[in-house]
Amino acid sequence: MTEPPEEEGAQTFEELGLSKEVLTALKDMGWETPTPVQRDSYPLAIAGHDIIVQSRTGTGKTGAFGIPLVDKLITEEGDEQALVLAPTRELALQSAAEIEKLGAHRNIDTVAVYGGASMDRQVRALEKGARVISGTPGRVLDHLKRGTMDASKLRFLVLDEADEMLSMGFAKELHAIIERLPKKRQTLLFSATVDRAIKRVAEKHMHDPQFLGLSGDHVGALGIEHFVYMVSGVGRVANLITVLETEDPESALIFCNTKAETEEVSAALQRAGFNAEWLNGDRPQKEREEVLDRVRREEIRFLVATDVAARGIDVSHLTHVINFSLPENVEQYVHRTGRTGRAGRTGTAITLVGPTELGILYYLRLQYRIFPVERTLPSEGEQRTRQEADRIAMIDAAYPKPPGERDLALVRRFLTHANAERMLAGLLGAFFGEETGDVDKVAAAKRRRGKQHPDDHSQVDSDDEEPETTTLYVNIGRQDELKASELGRLLRDRTGLKRKEIGRIRVRDKHSLVDVPEDRAQEVIESMAGAVLRDRELELELAENG
Ligand code: AMP
Repeated sequence: MTEPPEEEGAQTFEELGLSKEVLTALKDMGWETPTPVQRDSYPLAIAGHDIIVQSRTGTGKTGAFGIPLVDKLITEEGDEQALVLAPTRELALQSAAEIEKLGAHRNIDTVAVYGGASMDRQVRALEKGARVISGTPGRVLDHLKRGTMDASKLRFLVLDEADEMLSMGFAKELHAIIERLPKKRQTLLFSATVDRAIKRVAEKHMHDPQFLGLSGDHVGALGIEHFVYMVSGVGRVANLITVLETEDPESALIFCNTKAETEEVSAALQRAGFNAEWLNGDRPQKEREEVLDRVRREEIRFLVATDVAARGIDVSHLTHVINFSLPENVEQYVHRTGRTGRAGRTGTAITLVGPTELGILYYLRLQYRIFPVERTLPSEGEQRTRQEADRIAMIDAAYPKPPGERDLALVRRFLTHANAERMLAGLLGAFFGEETGDVDKVAAAKRRRGKQHPDDHSQVDSDDEEPETTTLYVNIGRQDELKASELGRLLRDRTGLKRKEIGRIRVRDKHSLVDVPEDRAQEVIESMAGAVLRDRELELELAENG
């Protein structure tokens, strides 16, 4: 392998010298500037070089081979074809769709060829003369063996996510396919990791490949921010929930190392009121597709998946990748975190790291020079700060009307009084039904409880905010644009509960939780029957798991 010479690349698609038709297509697609892999691959590809490009999903790699293919390599008048091999049908379909768009203004047809779909339709599309064939190794080999695909015109070969194809056990099919292709061809290999197995493929099947490394630009292209939370390894699911509450990601792909974990984590998140779904190889194909559809429609906020299940699916609209635990090998980390952030946009990678995973973190720093920023789970003090913010929001919501003139005069006088702080503390204490200084007492009690025997709950009720409260489940939440203050007001109006009797209101994705005095719970549920908020009829019930 030889390194290409260092030189300043083109900064715009125009500077790359693309045809008018492809420039128009790019404009239609809203792509303004080439990503680094696209910029660097293009000149090498159109010069006829074999190339190995170390790049991940999200860097614009599909464009890096798609643009030279439809722009120059495949001519409208000729009959040469390109074969794009990908590890999964999802990826094969995605690439086909993207290349189709890139070539929309040139006379170049694309067909996706993959298992599980009608062979006949694919054969017809092949017969009609598709110029780009995007498929999975198994099905492509089938077509070649049956003679429904003619290898002699396949002058361009793209191996997309080559490392994934090898690790999914497609090595034999790959070799069998490549053996059937013309010797005189150009091969473009894309892979997130370039290890010995990839180098062997290159030595065997490629001609003096030029290497574009995953360095500088290519890693930085996405500007992924990496964060880690050090956790004890015990109570990881609870830690994850705290992280989600703290970071409040718009959406995330949450990776687990085992299939069982995906279900556990997703169930726990759902119980905590988050919009979460799981995906692993055990889920029947039909359900998998439904989940993927919902992911595509951006209806799922947190997708909990194994590495295998998440392969090849387009999740670039998800803002975060979260590792429930570090994967066993560090390459997998690079794969996973490459799934966030569309080209040009930043993504965030967050990882929970337990004591046994420190070694992998070390390798990540050493091998990939990725230095995640360490964050700590919110301390008692920070949680208190949040609680204070909750309380202020509660008061704010409780008095929405501007004060009258006489009230305002009193307030102004009050605020300039030397003892304003003491008096206000007293008033707040009365409002929340606590003695002055109780907030600190609550925190102290919690600290004590952390240390005492798990069976000893003697402190819990006496010192906590609300004695004998119970949690009610309300069937609307953040998705319905519900605000805690609205729910509080409605509860007061309909049930006659006093402000201080209503405890914390937690608005989750699909539902909300509200703490009310235990002895009033049934009555609250009954008086709320038929209430409507945000066009939805409210249903309250006792929460199973507050
Ligand atoms: P890929 O790495 O090929 O999976 O691409 C990741 C995402 O970035 C896809 O949604 C592409 O459509 C998008 N993309 C690729 N290249 C560009 C570009 N130059 N400008 C804007 N978006 C792009």
